[in-house]
Amino acid sequence: MSSSDEAVFTDSEGADSDVQDVPVTDLPFERVEVSRSQPRHKLSGEICFDITYPGEEEPTRFPIRVLMDNNDHTFIHKEVADAVNHWIAVAQKFPHRRRKCICCDRRAAPSRSGTGVILCHGCGKKYGETVYAE
Ligand SMILES: [Zn+2]
Repeated sequence: MSSSDEAVFTDSEGADSDVQDVPVTDLPFERVEVSRSQPRHKLSGEICFDITYPGEEEPTRFPIRVLMDNNDHTFIHKEVADAVNHWIAVAQKFPHRRRKCICCDRRAAPSRSGTGVILCHGCGKKYGETVYAE
């Protein structure tokens, strides 16, 4: 913002101008809980994340598929993307360990070409581009 923009607000000086000047990055942001053993959805079996929004005391539990943007192939929250990348890294390190798909309760597909696989065949087709994006 240039100094000429500020000139527009000169007659609204006072307590209000402080409020307007709060940068967006300083506003409270939702907290995403990532635990060692993420809860799974009772019906679908997919991994869930607990997210606490500003002004709320109790977290809300979201299934992981709700937190995906499958048009952009991204996750809405960085914390979720970080957790997914961590699970991929673990799967790469221990490719032969049995693990469950993160999007349902089926078994993750056997490792292809040594990459860490954390989705079953069906979910790999649907969500692979998002999950393996980074
Ligand atoms: Zn699956």
